[in-house]
Amino acid sequence: MEKLAIFGGTPIRENPIYYGRQYIDQDDVDAVVATLMSNLITCGPKVEALEHKLCEITGAKYAVVVSNGTAALHLAAMAAGIGEGDEVIVSSITFAASSNCVLYCGGKPVFADIKSDTYNIDPESIKKLITPKTKAVVAVDFTGQAAELNEIRKICQENNLILIEDAAHSLGTIYDGQPVGSIADMTTFSFHPVKTVTGGEGGAITTNDEELFRKLRLLRTHGITRNASEMAHPTDDPWYQEQICLGYNYRMTDFQAALIISQLNKLPAFSKRRKEIVKKYDEAFCKMPEIKVQREIPESDTTRHLYILRLDLDRLSCTRREFFDALNAENTVPQVHYLPVYWHSYYEKLGYKKGLCPNAESYYEESMSIPLYYSLTDEDVEDVIAAVKKVVAYYKK
Ligand SMILES: *Cc1c(COP(=O)(O)O)cnc(C)c1O
Repeated sequence: MEKLAIFGGTPIRENPIYYGRQYIDQDDVDAVVATLMSNLITCGPKVEALEHKLCEITGAKYAVVVSNGTAALHLAAMAAGIGEGDEVIVSSITFAASSNCVLYCGGKPVFADIKSDTYNIDPESIKKLITPKTKAVVAVDFTGQAAELNEIRKICQENNLILIEDAAHSLGTIYDGQPVGSIADMTTFSFHPVKTVTGGEGGAITTNDEELFRKLRLLRTHGITRNASEMAHPTDDPWYQEQICLGYNYRMTDFQAALIISQLNKLPAFSKRRKEIVKKYDEAFCKMPEIKVQREIPESDTTRHLYILRLDLDRLSCTRREFFDALNAENTVPQVHYLPVYWHSYYEKLGYKKGLCPNAESYYEESMSIPLYYSLTDEDVEDVIAAVKKVVAYYKK
């Protein structure tokens, strides 16, 4: 058996591959530079053009571009009217921002369990958690695979709940023939560098509802309006603007918007390559009983953001941590997505206890993400597979 690098053997490759990274080309650079030299560098024509482009890609009627994905979630929760005493049902395996947005508004996140094979929020778990105080659901398209949106939408309609879809992972994914972004009441996106498309930072909300759209746009810029019909005290003074509610400065700069537009031109290529890599990984790992491959639902034509390597620890003589460290030493650098949100000490202080969502907890104990991004070469992908096989071979029972 080959000696693992962690025990002094030779690593599979010399330089490390990380779980995610951005891809920036000359077109992106040119788009940013041209915008920097233009008249308006924040919230100008590029932000508006990006909003149009997002509508085109997602099929949504309206898009509001904001400074990051967390701001998008915050505004979505505000526009949904979440406040003191309201409960919002949230996926338990996600980045904390999906749930923090409820806390920002004074609401109470209620964590739903995931399905043990798709890792997405379980519609049955949502049903069980609904009370008279429930106002909304935040469903995350974890790894890029769409949540079971038909079922979840039905539950929301029957119980008069607003559906917020956190699509930070799933730009480019099609669910049941419809692009993500046109399905939920509001869909939020992130353009952080590890996501499929980046602006350095950036976010957006899409919706088909004109009233929600107006609220979102107002909240993005301090709650200040230039529209006389919205004002309590309209005047014909040309300078007059009025603050009619408490909003924020969640604007995006025009040079970030220019970068995102340029990146979106490459989205079809990004999606295609991510799908190819996922297929190579799936083919390699589905033959290995020590590894569980994420189940794909037939409704989701997925542009995958993360590839999850889930271990069957009963068939391995190591812990998840030992596997993680061994893979790292082979220069395939993993990461773990995510700690169940309510395990964070902040949530613990709010009174959430371990044991709430058993599927989420066992998922977390057995999983890590391996490299998945556009610019991985076939050779890189082969190295990742070889590294996983090497570590499995060493530890298999
Ligand atoms: C990245 C991410 C966010 C937050 O986006 P930012 O742009 O980093 O604020 C929210 N939810 C999920 C699931 C994410 O992965």
